[in-house]
Amino acid sequence: MNQDKIDLYGPLKKYFGFNKFKGLQEDVVRSIVEGNDTFVIMPTGGGKSLCYQLPALMQEGTAIVVSPLIALMKNQVDAIRGISENQGVAHVLNSSLNKTEIAKVKSDISNGITKLLYVAPESLTKDEYVDFLKEQTISFFAIDEAHCISEWGHDFRPEYRNLRKIIQRIGNVPIIGLTATATPKVQEDIIKTLAMNNANTFQASFNRPNLFYEVRPKTKNVASDIIRFIKQRQGKSGVIYCLSRKKVEELAQTLQVNGISALPYHAGLDGKTRAKHQDMFLMEDVDVIVATIAFGMGIDKPDVRFVIHHDIPKSLESYYQETGRAGRDDGEGYCLAFYAYKDIEKLEKFMANKPIAEQELGHALLQEVVGYAETSISRRQYLLHYFGEEFDAVNGLGAKMDDNTKNPKKQTEAKESVVTLLKV
Ligand code: ADP
Ligand code: MG
Repeated sequence: MNQDKIDLYGPLKKYFGFNKFKGLQEDVVRSIVEGNDTFVIMPTGGGKSLCYQLPALMQEGTAIVVSPLIALMKNQVDAIRGISENQGVAHVLNSSLNKTEIAKVKSDISNGITKLLYVAPESLTKDEYVDFLKEQTISFFAIDEAHCISEWGHDFRPEYRNLRKIIQRIGNVPIIGLTATATPKVQEDIIKTLAMNNANTFQASFNRPNLFYEVRPKTKNVASDIIRFIKQRQGKSGVIYCLSRKKVEELAQTLQVNGISALPYHAGLDGKTRAKHQDMFLMEDVDVIVATIAFGMGIDKPDVRFVIHHDIPKSLESYYQETGRAGRDDGEGYCLAFYAYKDIEKLEKFMANKPIAEQELGHALLQEVVGYAETSISRRQYLLHYFGEEFDAVNGLGAKMDDNTKNPKKQTEAKESVVTLLKV
C-alpha cells in the first residue's frame, strides 16, 4: 500500500479553507493518518488542534479527544460544527449532559456521524461510557494538553494519570499526545505514562525571536522603575505579573495615581469585575493589566507589547508561558523581570508545609529560575537550553535580543551585580 498517495491538501481546503499547513502540521497529520502513535510539541498558537482534527475528519470512526477544560472543549466543538452540515460531527461528553443528550451523542457515534468526541478525563473513567465506547469504531485517542499528566509540568491533573489504562480498556488504537510544554522531564513523563515509546515525535522550535528578554535587579524603587518603563511606551498594551493579590491591587493603584491606565486582575475579584477588566484590556480601553497568574489561559491579544514580572515566577516553564503572551503578532514584545534572591526565599517558604517530594521538585525548579536570572550568557540560549533546544547565540534567530548579549558585562562586573542582587 502506498500511503504517500493520501491527499491531505484537498481535505485541508475542504474542512478548514486553508491552502497551506502551518509548521510541522503536514508531517504530523500524515503520521496520524498512517496510524502511528504521534507526539506533538508545539508552542501555544502553533496549530495543534488541526493536527488531530483533520485526521479525525478524514478517517472512519470517532476520535476521542481528552482535554482538561470544559471551556476549551466547547470552543473547539463549536468551531468544528461551524465547518460541517451535521452538528453531530463533534460532541462533548461531560457531566452536564442529561439523559436525552447522552442518548443523542451515543446514537451519533454508533451511526458513524461523530468524528470528534471531546471528553474530560474524569468522564472517561465512568464504566458506562467505557463499556459503550469499547463497542464503537474509534479512530484514535488525542490527549490534548498532555503535560497535565506530569507533576513536572505547570498544570498537573491527577486524572490524567489513569488515561493509559482506560484507553487500553476501550481499544487498541493509536495515541496522539499534544503539548506546548517542552521540558525534557515533562516529555519523558508523558511518553512513559501513555506508554508511547515508539511514537513519531514532532517538536517545533520554542524560540520566539521577536521577544526581548531582560532581568533587572529588584530594588525598593521597583515601582518607579516600572512606571518609567511604561511611560516610555505610552498607549501600548502590557501585562504585569505579581505574586500576590495584595501586590496586584497596590501596584495597580500606584500606576493609576501616576497617570497610567491600569487595572487589577486576580482570583479574589468577583467574576463580573474580572470579565470586565479583561474585556477592557482586549478592547484597549485600558493599557495595562496588573495580574496574578490567574490572568492568561485563553487570553489571545496579539499586540501585547510588554510583559513585566514584578516578582519572579516559580519555574522557567511558567516564565516562558507568561512572557509568551507578548508579541503574538510577531511585533515587538519586551519581557522584563525584576529579580531579588529574597523573592526566591519567599517562594521556598511558601512550600515549607508541602510534602517533601513536592518541596524538592519546587526547589529544583526554582534553582533553574535563579540560574536564568543570574546568568551572563544569552537569556534566549539559557531558556531554550532548559527546553532541550540548542541555540546559536551569535547567529540564531533573535540573537542579541536580550540584555546580556546586547550589553555584555565584563566578568567582574557580572560578579558584582550578583553580589548586589544577593544583598537587596
Ligand atoms: P495551539 O493549540 O497549538 O495553541 P490552535 O490549534 O489553537 O493552536 O491554533 C492556533 C491558530 O492557528 C488558530 O487560530 C488556527 O485557526 C490557526 N491555524 C491552524 N492551522 C492553520 C493553518 N494551516 N493555516 C492557517 N491558520 C491555521
Ligand atoms: Mg491547543
